[in-house]
Amino acid sequence: MVIKYQNKLNIPITELEQSAFCQDGSNFRTKTLEEEFKSGVRWQKIPTRYLKLSPEEIKTSIKEIKKSLGEKVIILGHHYQREDVIEFSDLQGDSYLLSKLASETKDAEIIVFCGVHFMAETAEILSSSKQKVILPNMAAGCSMADMASSNDVIRSWKQINDMLPSKSSKKSVIPVTYMNSAASIKSLCGENNGIVCTSSNANQAFEWAYQRGERILFIPDQHLGRNTAVNYGIDKSEMVIWDPYKPNGGLTKEELENTKIILWKGHCSVHTRFSVEQINKAKKDYPDVNILVHPECTNEVVSEADYVGSTEYIKNMVHNAPAGSSWAIGTEINLVKRLAHTYKDKNVFCLDEMICPCSTMYRVHPAYLLWVLEGLVAGYVINQIQVEDEVQKYSKLSLQRMLDLPNK
Ligand code: SF4
Repeated sequence: MVIKYQNKLNIPITELEQSAFCQDGSNFRTKTLEEEFKSGVRWQKIPTRYLKLSPEEIKTSIKEIKKSLGEKVIILGHHYQREDVIEFSDLQGDSYLLSKLASETKDAEIIVFCGVHFMAETAEILSSSKQKVILPNMAAGCSMADMASSNDVIRSWKQINDMLPSKSSKKSVIPVTYMNSAASIKSLCGENNGIVCTSSNANQAFEWAYQRGERILFIPDQHLGRNTAVNYGIDKSEMVIWDPYKPNGGLTKEELENTKIILWKGHCSVHTRFSVEQINKAKKDYPDVNILVHPECTNEVVSEADYVGSTEYIKNMVHNAPAGSSWAIGTEINLVKRLAHTYKDKNVFCLDEMICPCSTMYRVHPAYLLWVLEGLVAGYVINQIQVEDEVQKYSKLSLQRMLDLPNK
C-alpha cells in the first residue's frame, strides 16, 4: 500500500530557519523530536508517539528493524547528515556519488534517501521503475534549490530566449543546472539542449556547454557558477546576475548580449557563511594551515583558499593528508566534525567557529527514519518520491548527459 503525501510541502524559503540549530559547539547532539521542535521549525507532521522517543530508544529500534528488512531496503546517506542518521546508512556520498550509486543499486526494492528532496528526486529518476524511493522527512528541501522555482525558471528561460535569439548553428544560451534543483528544472535543461552538473564536474559541464552554445544560463547557485566560470577563464565583466524578481531579470538586451554567463540569483545559506576574515584568523592561529573550501562559497573566499572542491574532494583531501597537518574547512559542519573525529592524527576544524548545520539536511531526525522503516515493516510506503513521466523523461536526459561527461 502506498500512502500519498503531497510530493513537496509548500514550505517557504528556509533562510530564517537556517540559524535554528546554530550553537557554540559545546552541546551539539540530537535531542528528542519534541525538544528539537521547540526551535520553532516547521517540519513534516509525524505520529505523536515519535516525539518523545529518546535518541537511544530510536537507535535500538532502527538497528532491529534494519536487520529484519535485510537487503530489500538500502539506506543512502549524504555526508551532511547528522551522525545519528549516517550511522545507519549503507552507502555514503555527496550528491554526485549518491546519484551514481542510486543508478547502480538494482537489487534493493526500496531506497531510503537520507538527504534532501532534490537528491531523492534524482534517485527516483535514475533508479529502476521497480524501485521506490523514500525521503524520511518531506520537509527536507534545500534553501538554494527553493530559490529557483519552476515557474520562475520557465518564465525567465522564455524571456532570455526572446531577448537573445540564436543567430548561428550554435545556440545562443545553454541552460546548465546544478544538481541542487527541482526535477522540473533538470527537465527544462534536458528539453532545451542543456545539462545537469555537480560541484565535482562543473568544469567539464561548462566545456560541454560552450561547445554547443555562446553562453550559459547557470541555475541556481551564482557562486558555483561564478567560481567555475572564473576557472574557465571568463572575465567577471562577462558575467551578469539574473534576478527573477525583477523585470527581464533586471538586465537590458545589451547587457545580456555581452555576457558569457548568466548567473541565477541563488546561493547556499550554509556555504556563504564562510568569510575571508575567518580564513585570516585560521592562518593567524595556525600558520601552516591548509584552507579547503567548497565552491558554493563566495569567490572572495574561494580566491583565498588553498584548495577548492566538492564534498567528496574535501573528504579525500583530508583522508590523504599527512599526519600532523592542519585543515581549516569551509563546508557543512556535520562532515567537518566527522572528518575531525575520523582523522584524530590531523588538526581538522571548521572555518566558522559557530556550529551551524544545514537546517534542511538536519530535518532528517532519526525519528523520521524510524517512522518510514516501521511503515515498511507494516506494509506501508511512507513519503514515496514520485516524478511525473514527462519530467522524468527530460530530466533523465540532462542527468545522463552529465553522467556521460569525461572523468577528469
Ligand atoms: S548545504 Fe546548502 S546547497 Fe546543500 S542542501 Fe544545505 S542549503 Fe542546500
